[in-house]
Amino acid sequence: MDLSYILNELGEEREQYFNAVAPPIIQTSNFTFKNVAEFRNALADEYEAILYSRGNNPTVDILRKKLAALDGAEDALVFGSGIAAIAIPILALLKQGDHIVSVARPYSWTVKLFERLLPKFGITTTFVDGTRTENFNTAIQSNTRLLYLESPNTFTYELQDLNALATLAKSKHILTMIDNSYCSPLNQQPYKMGIDLVAQSATKFIGGHSDVVAGVVTGSKALIKKIFDAEFLNIGGNISPMNAWLLIRGLRTLPLRLQRVCDSTKVIVDFLANHPRVERVLFPFHPSFPQYELAKKQMLDAGGLFSIVLKAKALEDVERFCNSLKHFFLAVSWGGHESLVVPALVGFPATDFDVANPNHRLIRLYIGLEDPNYLIADLKQALEK
Ligand SMILES: *Cc1c(COP(=O)(O)O)cnc(C)c1O
Repeated sequence: MDLSYILNELGEEREQYFNAVAPPIIQTSNFTFKNVAEFRNALADEYEAILYSRGNNPTVDILRKKLAALDGAEDALVFGSGIAAIAIPILALLKQGDHIVSVARPYSWTVKLFERLLPKFGITTTFVDGTRTENFNTAIQSNTRLLYLESPNTFTYELQDLNALATLAKSKHILTMIDNSYCSPLNQQPYKMGIDLVAQSATKFIGGHSDVVAGVVTGSKALIKKIFDAEFLNIGGNISPMNAWLLIRGLRTLPLRLQRVCDSTKVIVDFLANHPRVERVLFPFHPSFPQYELAKKQMLDAGGLFSIVLKAKALEDVERFCNSLKHFFLAVSWGGHESLVVPALVGFPATDFDVANPNHRLIRLYIGLEDPNYLIADLKQALEK
């Protein structure tokens, strides 16, 4: 399906709402029925019905159609956060006694899901170094139900070979799920590579303006219906119509924003890779990246997030660099219009800092929509301090 058609037309039945160009925000919890028979049919299969906005809502439905089409999948479910789009499908598809093989170091709340929440329900997880496909194969047990992937992750960017893992999982009748937030559907298409469920934090590139928290999962109609009928309705992690509308608006400019972010990132990565105060850069599309070949093979483009290891003699050097940046905000999240910086050392007590450990001198940068020269000038002055 043509990208322009998906973003500008798909799912939008304008003649039903006065030919308005922007879709209406159907801000209602509830929907009425003409008669008892219609009411009964809606209750019998809520997946196909418009009954109550915890399940289906017409504004959210426009967004679902677009997000499913962007991944080349049959259907999508939209949630009130990215982590709900990961946790709820896993709770829906796995049961007590099941086992997950997960890539090491996925998103921080995904780690907590696997280490704290799922064990309460008798679901266990083995983490493996995902840069080698064999590691997944070795960790698979007779009760393994899911291979969980995040390629690349959003701090150190290790990749998994998605084609190889989809083939491995299919041969053993194991489900595969990926967190595709880093790439978005425009830069990587895991569903087309055989991955069953593609989750994404829509808070990041889809929203794009740092004003909505939301998530999406896409997959086959059978899997999405299974998630919808049980845990989606039961846990109630749905998105509001207003936030769905903001994501539809975000989608209109997604290709333009992502192109800008990816182009600027490459210019800035090149600047930093050649700077004497930078020990190394970590970015999947930089030739120095250990999995550069795989990145070029399975990703269409890369940009936004990358990390640097700063040459520093002490904690204060890293802090001074970050504090000196004027146009990179110190903040979590990413994917919006504004550039951001996160030093790894915010994640542990200052007294634990070990200058010999490059991971402690790691700094993650997100490149927003600003002029790359404006950002380079800022990085330059901060590095000189
Ligand atoms: C932000 C993020 C999430 C969680 O999404 P929320 O919308 O914050 O719940 C999951 N995975 C990755 C890679 C993220 O960056």
